[in-house]
This record gives sequence, C-alpha cells and structure tokens, in this order.
Amino acid sequence: MAGVKIHRIVVGPFDTNCILVEDEASKEALVVDPGGGVDLISERVRLTGVRPVMVVLTHGHVDHCAEASAIATMYGIPIAMHRDDLLLYQHMDVQVEAFMGPAAATRYRGAQQVMPTVFLEHGQLLKVGRTNARVIHLPGHTMGGIGLLFEGRPDIIVQGDTLFRDGVGRTDLYGGNWEALQSSLKLRLFTLKPDTIVVCGHGGDTTISREKVDISW
Ligand SMILES: [Zn+2]
Ligand SMILES: [Zn+2]
Repeated sequence: MAGVKIHRIVVGPFDTNCILVEDEASKEALVVDPGGGVDLISERVRLTGVRPVMVVLTHGHVDHCAEASAIATMYGIPIAMHRDDLLLYQHMDVQVEAFMGPAAATRYRGAQQVMPTVFLEHGQLLKVGRTNARVIHLPGHTMGGIGLLFEGRPDIIVQGDTLFRDGVGRTDLYGGNWEALQSSLKLRLFTLKPDTIVVCGHGGDTTISREKVDISW
C-alpha cells in the first residue's frame, strides 16, 4: 500500500523543518511550513520529482511562513492555514522586524504577499493525491496551530511547534495560551495511537508514546 513520504528541509535562522509531504501514488506534495530557504525547497522539489499542490502552514509564526508567498507564486498553488492565525500572517512584517531586525522586514512592508485562501478546520480532510490528511486544530502555541494526521503503518502527524522531542511549544509569544496548549496535548495529541510518528517544527521526530505524560494539571 502506497502511503506518504516525508521529506525534511531545514530552513531559515531558526532551523525550521519545512516538510514536503509526498503522496507516493501520485507524487503530489504539500509544502508544509516554508519558513525560509526557497532555493533549498525548490531544489528538493526538483530532485524528488514531486508536484507541489498546496502550501500548508502549521501556524502563523514567521519562521514557518516567511517564504509561503514565494513558494505559492513559484508553483501557482494556494496557501492553507487555520483562520485563527491569519492575523499573524497578515502582520509578517511586524514579526520579521521583531525577530530579524528592521532591515529584513523591508521586503515584507507593503509588499504584495500572497494571502492564504484555504482555511482549514478541525476534523476536515485535506486531499493530496490519493491520500487524505485529517486536520487537527491544536491551539496553544498560537491560536490557529494545526497538525496534519496521515493514516498509515504507523500514522504520522506533522504538527509544527505544539509538541517537540523532549518538550512542548512555548506559549509566551503572541497568540500563546498555556491552558489551551495543555488541552491540545491532552485531548488531541496524547489520544493518538502511541506509535504515531510526530514530525516537529524544529529538531528531530518523536512518537506519541515517547512524549506522552499524564497531564493532571
Ligand atoms: Zn512557532
Ligand atoms: Zn517555530
């Protein structure tokens, strides 16, 4: 049974994992979190021979979105995200200035950024080739954080900065909320199959069973 293949490209000053999720049957791919490294991403697309069909943002932080517009333009594809992070995306210049300084923000100021046109909701199925990803809304690190769950042996979830190998996402940035993060972990991630592979926004992969703790807070 063909499934999905995960291609990781580490991009930008925060070593963000940009993930190409390839549907092996059709070679269609989602470009998840293009937070930098347009050349690295396009090179990997060429080498793997995949056909990008959509940019998907796990959340609206600049280290996951900075090159969404460039990639969407390059391949003529739409950008998808959860509506609750749209404001973060629309204020990319403010985020770039805060994290990378005013000079870096210039190209985002008044620039014609391609805006997200596909808004993903909890439980929705997102089709890529012959595969369906289930959208899991994971508020906490930001209000519009999402994961994409791919069924297989084992299941795989691509979920940005909510859960890391040996840690959880910070909640002190704009849109962060510790109580919401706890609920997302407890109700929506730790209830997945224990052997589910967790692809994180930074660093290596992990599994649900490795990170699962009893949340009694
Ligand atoms: Zn983040
Ligand atoms: Zn991040």
